[in-house]
Amino acid sequence: MRFLHKYLLRFFFWISGMWSHYSSKVIYSPFAPQQVDPLKVRDMLIHAQTNVSYYQNKIPTVPADSKHLFPFLKNLDFTVSKVDLLSDDKLFIDQRNHKYSNRIGIKAGFIHNLLSGLSKNCLVPINSSGSSGRALKFYKTRKDLQIASIEILQAARYLGWEEGESIVISFQEGMYAQTRFFHRLFGWFGMPLFLYKHINKNSAQKFVNHINKSNATVVIAFASQLTEFALNCKKFNIKVKTPLKFILSVGEMLFKEHRLLIEEVFDVKVYDFYGSSEMGMIAIECKHQKGMHIFENEVFLETDQNNNILATSFNSQYMPFIKYKIGDTGVIREQECTCGIKGKMLVELKGRVDEYLLTEDRERVYASYFRQLLLHCNDFFNGVIIRGQFIQKKDLSISVALQITHDKIPKDKITQIIKERIFKDFNLDVEVNYRLQLLPDKGKFKMLIRE
Ligand SMILES: [Zn+2]
Repeated sequence: MRFLHKYLLRFFFWISGMWSHYSSKVIYSPFAPQQVDPLKVRDMLIHAQTNVSYYQNKIPTVPADSKHLFPFLKNLDFTVSKVDLLSDDKLFIDQRNHKYSNRIGIKAGFIHNLLSGLSKNCLVPINSSGSSGRALKFYKTRKDLQIASIEILQAARYLGWEEGESIVISFQEGMYAQTRFFHRLFGWFGMPLFLYKHINKNSAQKFVNHINKSNATVVIAFASQLTEFALNCKKFNIKVKTPLKFILSVGEMLFKEHRLLIEEVFDVKVYDFYGSSEMGMIAIECKHQKGMHIFENEVFLETDQNNNILATSFNSQYMPFIKYKIGDTGVIREQECTCGIKGKMLVELKGRVDEYLLTEDRERVYASYFRQLLLHCNDFFNGVIIRGQFIQKKDLSISVALQITHDKIPKDKITQIIKERIFKDFNLDVEVNYRLQLLPDKGKFKMLIRE
């Protein structure tokens, strides 16, 4: 099996190399000395200006001279936030839709999707991940995904992974619309997905069994979820038997104490990886862990005066993101890292820091717990909950706001389920109402709010 994975990956790299060659693009190598391709930047700006209505009146004439290109991009006086996308995502879509007529269907079969994926153009619908509640819908083209996979594999290779070795990628169920297709496809390439609903002793055991069985050397998972798996493994003495090379923590802020816990329990180094479902891969830690190296050839990263991170992706042709306010803050420095790489580094990243609520004993309970709560409630109520919001007041009581497809379920029944089944570990007041609190000025809907 390992031989087959190696062969398939080599083939994948070869195809990517050929594609890169024929389309006169550089081969992606995040840890090679950074060479930002000005043509790529220019292409993206002109593409957005010409084909995407949101940008048509916002981007003036793009300079031909590459010397002026980056100052031009930096001086464009607009940003795009999640609220803009929620208000009308069609404004951000390439108007020539017919070019991408093949879609990876959520309900379509594997063969149909595989054929769509292999045909000339195709779109993959992706929901925003993380814990912001309502999922934003994005589309990735085959090219976007190809670049993303090469980047992550190149980064993994730099950190010690070798072709043929299994990478376990772990997701909470329900996060992505179309997992069945990817489940099989990733499996073929030696990257078996691990999907779970709740994190407890049982799923932690399954998670570790999955790693052991696939003989994985690398694990990729969300920071808070890794922490919760680690806590369960520690508590119930569940051990990884296969020698891991490293763990990549993605999607959320990786706290120092969590990093230490995960490293202790799984007996391996944890590296932080920064990206988002909208933007793809943005930056990754090297072995020296002095900050994260930015994939400069894929994304232009800048900050505004309040240290909000703004990102411009050079790859999302179908749904361009130019000066997109991700919702995280950070500091970007141009420097030479002790590993020898010279370029832009992301230091002091602060993302999703408030994605937890406090128990009575002031212990943090992370977003994934509440995501699990919603999934659990939806099991009882046939998926009527579209999104939920948990607001913790100063006295630590929590009110739950739910957006549901219809209001046939009595409020007291939902309250009862939440209180009895979910909050049994917490001695907290729960109040359910159906009005969600939106934070338009903060740029996103938040699932967890501490007042
Ligand atoms: Zn470095």
